[in-house]
Amino acid sequence: MSKTANAQYIISLLESFAPKSMAVDGDPIGLQVGSLNRPVKKVMIALDVLESVVDEAIANEVDLIIAHHPLIYRPLKKIDTNTPKGRVISKLLKQDITVYAAHTNLDVTASGVNSWLSDCLELKQTEVLAPTYEEELVKLCVFVPLTHEEHVRQAIGNAGAGHIGNYSHCTFSSNGWGTFTPLEGTTPFIGELGKQERTEEVKIESIMPVSIQKHVIAAMKKAHPYEEIAYDLFPLLNKGNELGIGKIGMLPKEMEMEQFVDHVKKAFGLSNVRVIKGHNHSIKKVAVVGGDGNKYIYPAVRKGADVLVTGDIYYHNAHDAQEEGLTIVDAGHHIEKIMKHELKRVLEKELVKRKYDTQVIESEVITEPFTFM
Ligand SMILES: [Zn+2]
Repeated sequence: MSKTANAQYIISLLESFAPKSMAVDGDPIGLQVGSLNRPVKKVMIALDVLESVVDEAIANEVDLIIAHHPLIYRPLKKIDTNTPKGRVISKLLKQDITVYAAHTNLDVTASGVNSWLSDCLELKQTEVLAPTYEEELVKLCVFVPLTHEEHVRQAIGNAGAGHIGNYSHCTFSSNGWGTFTPLEGTTPFIGELGKQERTEEVKIESIMPVSIQKHVIAAMKKAHPYEEIAYDLFPLLNKGNELGIGKIGMLPKEMEMEQFVDHVKKAFGLSNVRVIKGHNHSIKKVAVVGGDGNKYIYPAVRKGADVLVTGDIYYHNAHDAQEEGLTIVDAGHHIEKIMKHELKRVLEKELVKRKYDTQVIESEVITEPFTFM
């Protein structure tokens, strides 16, 4: 039977994909307007929350907008409904539309915005351009009766535990004896009330990033037959993947400058881009950063990029890049629009898997403010 998801639940699915802890310090991610304590029949994914986007949400009877760019970025001193921002907030409140922002956490997460941009450019052998975050790891040890060993092992592996490099479902097992005495009020899977029980059990150990811990524990509990499950979680000193802003990788084949510019335009459906010509005429190693790329010129130079594809490059920074010999293709901030389709796909998959009938749509309003004339 299908069911309607609660906003908080939808956000928990989103945050297991792009945990809040991955956001860059000071980024105002999370709930921005309204309440998460409500059922959601329709979610809309948007890049920006402009008035035209809110009107689109109203017309489509949307309950929750998940936006990449926070609507409220700097603290507001007042909400004057005669200003555009005040009008937007007022409309959202009157129409009972919740707004949630997933910004730098969605940039930093392993398969988030920067990885989608790098896929559009067909980059291979990619790595993080500017690391900002190292995943914390935890170890799960769970004690399982022999009959359910495979079932629990599969469940935690399927939930993402035991991912090491290109190996999944990595676990270690050791056999032993578990003892317990069921007390008044219990309905034990094995044993009788008041009688000490001794049963052969397997200890399954596996490692996982803290970000998916809740999800893995829930899957483990669902697969485990015991009423009270004995398990331990250990914080680890070894670190997981390095995550961060931007990607750097290789084109499938070397391209001439002009050919590469066409490749970028085609990848993002653009008619024009601004190019800052560096020293390179042929391009193989490409760095890409969604949004404002000003801070990523030197990381791109240090990592040997032939070109940086980004947006919002300032005049003086363009000079700095040129002096370093780095070519920049300023494809505009709006190329991040690809997140609408990609995040819709991610969220829809999770909701369908759990049999929720909450619909996910992408905003069709174009929020690109620049026109080439
Ligand atoms: Zn952006």
